[in-house]
Amino acid sequence: MPQFQLFSLLCVSLCLSYMVTGCHSFERGSNESETTMVSCDFCHTTIHGKYFTAEDGRNVCLRCRNSLPACKSCGLPVTKGIEQNGRVFCQECIAKAERCDFCAAYLFGEYYKIGGQLVCAGCKKNLPRCSRCNRPLQEYLLVASYKLCFTCAHEVDHCAVCQLPLLERYFEFPNDNRKFCKTCSSERNRCDICTLPLGTLHHRLRDGRTMCAQCMQQAVKTPAMAQKALRQVFDYLEGKLTLHIRPGTQLQIVDARTLARLRQSIRGHGDQDRRALGLFLRKGDKFDVYVESFLPYSLCVAVLAHEYTHAWQADRFPQNTSQLWVEGLAEWVAYETLLHYGYDKQASLIARQQDVYGQGLRKVQAVEQKYGKSQVIAKVMEMVGAKGKR
Ligand SMILES: [Zn+2]
Ligand SMILES: [Zn+2]
Ligand SMILES: [Zn+2]
Ligand SMILES: [Zn+2]
Ligand SMILES: [Zn+2]
Ligand SMILES: [Zn+2]
Ligand SMILES: [Zn+2]
Repeated sequence: MPQFQLFSLLCVSLCLSYMVTGCHSFERGSNESETTMVSCDFCHTTIHGKYFTAEDGRNVCLRCRNSLPACKSCGLPVTKGIEQNGRVFCQECIAKAERCDFCAAYLFGEYYKIGGQLVCAGCKKNLPRCSRCNRPLQEYLLVASYKLCFTCAHEVDHCAVCQLPLLERYFEFPNDNRKFCKTCSSERNRCDICTLPLGTLHHRLRDGRTMCAQCMQQAVKTPAMAQKALRQVFDYLEGKLTLHIRPGTQLQIVDARTLARLRQSIRGHGDQDRRALGLFLRKGDKFDVYVESFLPYSLCVAVLAHEYTHAWQADRFPQNTSQLWVEGLAEWVAYETLLHYGYDKQASLIARQQDVYGQGLRKVQAVEQKYGKSQVIAKVMEMVGAKGKR
């Protein structure tokens, strides 16, 4: 909040009250000073009779005192001066006075200092204010109903979607450094991938999904990109974790509608998989992994790692294995794959989950804590009674 400072020119009003009450120390009779000739500093004539002496030593005859207007600041007669808002001020006071930075009025009596600028009472009352710093404004930027000074317009954050300045509460989402206004975060349609508010620049896919520009930019759009992601996943799963996945396991990139249909059609392993983004399907000896199209690259890597772990499990884990172990290990592999390739942000989203995936992941991580990373697969296999080799 801006600081208001009230300045008051107290000294001059004191001086004024001395004059008005005709304090005796300033009032002199001519008979006391008959030997010296005194002249009035205002009409420059010799004074006969009573006169006054101001603090600065100037003498005022009674005629000047009674006929000339008195300066509203110092109280002395005004021969040449200016009038401001119906009040008269002498040149001496004008020369010393500060001026309002907005209307250039001379500042007598109360005035204010707001944001380093001097403001007269009139400007303080009448000028529009900056919606952010409350400073009076002569020029401003009007954004929606907000008036902003140029400093604030430059400094303030803007909503990532509607670009309005964020002057009230704003919203942020995990793993995203953008800020959103209240309206955009509560009323806008969301991106089907990252679930963040959709901007005007977004994409609608043929299967009905809407994607934000950011997700689309990172999306796996070509078979070559999908192959690259799959190669990275295999390099880690087979190379580092020595998980041998059945050769011939097919990857199919499908749209969201196809994936939803497949999920509805199956009973058995994988049908409770909440991940609408990927699916492992076994039909006898035929292993298929389905992954939703247009996933951002790092998410695609995570889904591939998860589903290919299911393919590996399908040849080894007993049918009745707890979902906590099945999904937990698939998530752990996905999590480790992401970290291995430096996709820390995507990995932290996995760790944040509270459902069976998150719980399962923490169960496997407890095994990792106890036996070390290299022993995780072997220990989990042992615990679930897996058959065969890795
Ligand atoms: Zn005079
Ligand atoms: Zn004056
Ligand atoms: Zn002013
Ligand atoms: Zn401002
Ligand atoms: Zn907005
Ligand atoms: Zn998105
Ligand atoms: Zn799963």
